[in-house]
Amino acid sequence: MFPERVLSGMRPTGLLHLGHYHGVLKNWVKLQTEYPCLFFVADWHALTTHYETPQIIEENVWDMVIDWLAAGIDPSQATLFIQSRVPEHAELHLLLSMSTPLGWLERVPTYKDQQEKLNDKDLATYGFLGYPLLQSADILIYRATQVPVGEDQVPHIELTREIARRFNNLYGKEPGFEEKALEAAKKLGSKRAKLYLDLRNRYQEQGEDTALEQAKAMLGDSQNLSLADRERLFGYLEGGRKLILAEPKAMLTEASRMPGLDGQKMSKSYQNTISLRETPENISLKIRKMPTDPQRVRRTDPGDPEKCPVWQLHEIYSDERQKNWVQEGCKSAGIGCLECKEPIIDAVVRELTPMRERAAYYSEDPSMVRNIIADGCERARELAQETMREVRESMGLDYS
Ligand code: SF4
Repeated sequence: MFPERVLSGMRPTGLLHLGHYHGVLKNWVKLQTEYPCLFFVADWHALTTHYETPQIIEENVWDMVIDWLAAGIDPSQATLFIQSRVPEHAELHLLLSMSTPLGWLERVPTYKDQQEKLNDKDLATYGFLGYPLLQSADILIYRATQVPVGEDQVPHIELTREIARRFNNLYGKEPGFEEKALEAAKKLGSKRAKLYLDLRNRYQEQGEDTALEQAKAMLGDSQNLSLADRERLFGYLEGGRKLILAEPKAMLTEASRMPGLDGQKMSKSYQNTISLRETPENISLKIRKMPTDPQRVRRTDPGDPEKCPVWQLHEIYSDERQKNWVQEGCKSAGIGCLECKEPIIDAVVRELTPMRERAAYYSEDPSMVRNIIADGCERARELAQETMREVRESMGLDYS
């Protein structure tokens, strides 16, 4: 019922590296050509874990936006904004917190997990417990229909769906709802209104799912309905309530296979990263220093690519012919490790050179980046305010 819209955010907690590019940004670049996309800097989320060191967040916000632009995120296709510049996120978070059972938040699997993983920080805070709800507010305020996530984030989307459902059930009861829905149906035109009511009866009386789908498709195609009427008609199909918040779907994305320079996951905390703005000299130096299969002590010792982090990079950057060259050359000691690393160095330099150049271009003109974000915040805020008007009205908070 709601137009397709993708939302995704990133915490500004450090310089972006190849892990971010292959895990998230490459996908964003593709998504922005397929859907209306909103990408945001999740600075409030960063505060839930870095509340004692807010200066880190401030430093990283603008660098992160520059890295997004350098990686190919196009502000003429996607809306880029900063979460805290759209204060409606906080308002919706607060209003949702009124009806969210505590147990729903305590059960989120990443809550305990993260607390254990980040045990150097005191995360027994109200903000940290509430961060999945803030995430829900981020999604629901834009009525995003799709949220790209990895497997581990799926429970967060499920939680968001439950929160939206609960909200619609609690606050979607409008006085005179049925009359308003029937009035709205008339706006479809007499033939389509009759078909709509017929499909609704078939679904409600005989449980025909196909009738429900057909009616939804028909409403989706109707151009001449206001947003409020559209919500009423969708709500009326399945029950007697208006749908104010949209239930998003998880858009599963593959986890990044990008290893760090030591073979572990690429992460700033392991100091094994190649940043998106790394110079060719540094790229070469870092890759040349990478550990390889420990069995290859001498050049003449055969090795096994499966035991070598460089092979994981070949899996990402090399074609079949080159991969065969590595497999055969490594196992027969026909190639040396430095020789094996050369094509990876070339591929990473090729990939990062245009990004480094674009980053330099944006860094030289900070006002351009600030303007891009100001425009994005304005666009995002309009959408957020549209939802909040209805949320406030449905909760009896519209005093105009
Ligand atoms: S030849 Fe390549 S795959 Fe084999 S150990 Fe050396 S770097 Fe690793």
